[in-house]
Amino acid sequence: MKKVIVVTGGTRGIGKAIVYELAKKDVHIILNYKSSDEKAKLIKEDLGNKVEVFKADISKREEVRNLIKFSLDKFGKIDVLINNAGIAQEKMFIDITEEDWNNMLQTNLTSAFYTIQEVLPNMIHNKSGCIINISSIWGITGASCEVHYSVSKAGIDALTKSLAKELGPSNIRVNSVAPGIIETDMTNDYTEEELEEIKSKIPLEKIGKPEDIAKCVYWLVDDNYTTGQIISPNGGWII
Ligand code: NAP
Repeated sequence: MKKVIVVTGGTRGIGKAIVYELAKKDVHIILNYKSSDEKAKLIKEDLGNKVEVFKADISKREEVRNLIKFSLDKFGKIDVLINNAGIAQEKMFIDITEEDWNNMLQTNLTSAFYTIQEVLPNMIHNKSGCIINISSIWGITGASCEVHYSVSKAGIDALTKSLAKELGPSNIRVNSVAPGIIETDMTNDYTEEELEEIKSKIPLEKIGKPEDIAKCVYWLVDDNYTTGQIISPNGGWII
């Protein structure tokens, strides 16, 4: 039977690359996004029956419930959940407002609490599941001027490790993929100089591509014996 895979934030960057990489398999993909209707439509046109698109703000419980209900009504099961959608913001800690803080945690961390709680009854019933959370190296090392972002990603990694322990007996694997710097809209504010400076600190001397992360996710989807791990494709930036 075809695997059913939900990918949040699949219209751009890493999520879009994940959708295209996984579409090479014999699968059904539910691509979630927040506002890029035109981008979602183009991907749907390109990938046809392999993909269903569903607009939902994953920071809102009710919209997540609708996303998962749509997927289950359509296909009867969810084999793989990829929590990819996220936001970033650069600000000095002292300038972060309560609204910034709450928005960051709600979008990057609480959203995974929602999606995972919604898919779990089905995965537990099937005694099978794979959950992949896209975190970040900043969750591991912490980042200056991105404290709330780093906290959200460290939270995701703790969620991954704790849930892997709790859900292992139900044959549900939970892992984080924690990218280094990847060329997407999220990082297009960097100047050429800043990028050169970053590259000089990366042993592989290059910025990552969304496809580099997608390949790692592709491998994890097929794996059987990896759980509770924080896998970090980062060019060797942190070792
Ligand atoms: P991106 O290019 O900015 O794309 C973000 C995606 O998330 C879009 O599809 C967007 O949908 C969706 N999204 C944002 N907020 C949403 C919400 N509330 N509900 C539903 N969808 C939402 O970002 P990216 O660089 O690909 O990042 C993807 C993930 O990788 C994020 O979790 C990010 O933290 C992580 N990451 C990125 C990097 C990097 O260097 N780029 C490094 C480490 C980790 P719309 O198109 O509809 O807005």
